[in-house]
Amino acid sequence: MDQVLGQVLRNAVWERLDMLSDLATRADAQSLVSVARSELPRLTEGWRAMLQAHEPDERGDCPTCSTRWHRCKAPCSVWQVAHEHLVAGGLAPQQTAATQDRRRRVPGQSRVSAAETTGRHALVDPRRPITA
Ligand SMILES: [Zn+2]
Repeated sequence: MDQVLGQVLRNAVWERLDMLSDLATRADAQSLVSVARSELPRLTEGWRAMLQAHEPDERGDCPTCSTRWHRCKAPCSVWQVAHEHLVAGGLAPQQTAATQDRRRRVPGQSRVSAAETTGRHALVDPRRPITA
């Protein structure tokens, strides 16, 4: 996948996560139940698929994170993040999410104005032909 398509893909995922976070904080109870029913199974399936790729091999290494020259012992960073967010992170999920969000935000952008415009992450207009 070339760099531009990779950026479009990552932007779409970040926007989806932002949208879900926004719904969790703003939506009314009825909408939240509806979103939870549709989105929670998708999120859990996504975690399962990702974790499956990081299951330790017979030597106890992560086959996805390891290279020919560097073996990565399980649990790799993906499993550590999963445990932190799905098991231990239940203690302070808001703080963790806010911290991660700040890391990738462009300086000077405020969350509210950015979240309410489309394409905060859209560095590339998907309607324009890709010439790279
Ligand atoms: Zn891994």
